[in-house]
Amino acid sequence: MKAFAYNALPGRVVFGAGALQHLPREIERIRAERVLVLSTPQQRAQAEDIAGRLGERCVGLYDRAVMHVPIETARAAREEAKRLSADCAVAVGGGSTIGLGKAIALESDLPILAIPTTYAGSEMTPIYGLTENGQKRTGRDPRVLPTTVIYDPLLTLTLPVSLSITSALNAMAHCVEALYAEDANPVVSLMAQEGIRALARSLPKLKTNADDIEVRGDLLYGAWLAGAALGAVGMSIHHKLCHTLGGSFNLPHSEVHTVILPHAAAYNRAAAPDAMAHVAAALGVPDAPFGIWELERSLGAPLTLKEIGMKEEDLDRAARLATERPYYNPRPIEFGAIRALLDDAFHGRKPAEATALH
Ligand code: NAD
Repeated sequence: MKAFAYNALPGRVVFGAGALQHLPREIERIRAERVLVLSTPQQRAQAEDIAGRLGERCVGLYDRAVMHVPIETARAAREEAKRLSADCAVAVGGGSTIGLGKAIALESDLPILAIPTTYAGSEMTPIYGLTENGQKRTGRDPRVLPTTVIYDPLLTLTLPVSLSITSALNAMAHCVEALYAEDANPVVSLMAQEGIRALARSLPKLKTNADDIEVRGDLLYGAWLAGAALGAVGMSIHHKLCHTLGGSFNLPHSEVHTVILPHAAAYNRAAAPDAMAHVAAALGVPDAPFGIWELERSLGAPLTLKEIGMKEEDLDRAARLATERPYYNPRPIEFGAIRALLDDAFHGRKPAEATALH
């Protein structure tokens, strides 16, 4: 067995339908007295419910979280936390809201209690992102890792089915890249495989059983494992491309992950055969990239960059941005091959055929 370093997960995870009832107990555990609740404007009602459960311990509700954490929003939220002398932030929502909590924690050491309502996985990671002058920069800092995470599938029932599908595929992308990470280790690889299994078995049920709490619980379980894998090991070409396309071309986060995943997997297919075999086994298919693409197609998920807002004339610039700095990937990063990958993703070609073109 190869030598490895294993990074532990966030301290405490409370999981299950109705787990939100334990919020007051969990706040007591971290000895917080003055809680600031964070959400997007769209999730204000959920945030108000949380505030109500906290009673006097809730000193404020800040509902202006938006995608990619603009520095102005981060500054305003930090000011609000300071003004209220908050000693804890409760973030209820997806990666955008949890990201805002992380932006506060980065400068104040405020503990975060995260209540995720999508499958993006940010609650499990020490990774933060901030956008300034149109540029998104990300970093890792243990201060931003939530202290406690409450996973309650009941809160995901309102996540629209189309967003549930792409968000779960965003989670699957973390698992796929964890399996061929430079610092992969056997424990995280097991989690990644189980994550793919849980997501792949529950995704097809979402269309007809979106209100089934077992299905929602299974998806959230997969998302937990995926987020833990994302937080524990390094990511490669897939995340680099999605970061570039989301940050510089303003494409929607989970949709861009969905479109790129089969093509990124195809790019690495020959260079990471063991990882691909594990992905294929977890999906129950003979070929990983093609299996992912087929799953996406059967779910009616977006398959082309074109349909999610990418312009064909921007593909060259995207390929340049994604290849200008060196980073680890199982297969060397080459401009021509990445440009071809983006072309396949733009048109939504089958990855099996795409490989032959590269
Ligand atoms: P999001 O947080 O932007 O949410 C998308 C929309 O869905 C928002 O309007 C939100 O209010 C709404 N929503 C969320 N949950 C809902 C629910 N249960 N019911 C109804 N509406 C709901 O989307 P996301 O995909 O979770 O997060 C994307 C952002 O998170 C990106 O900026 C990405 O870079 C970041 N991210 C960071 C990490 C990390 O480790 N730092 C990991 C994953 C994603």
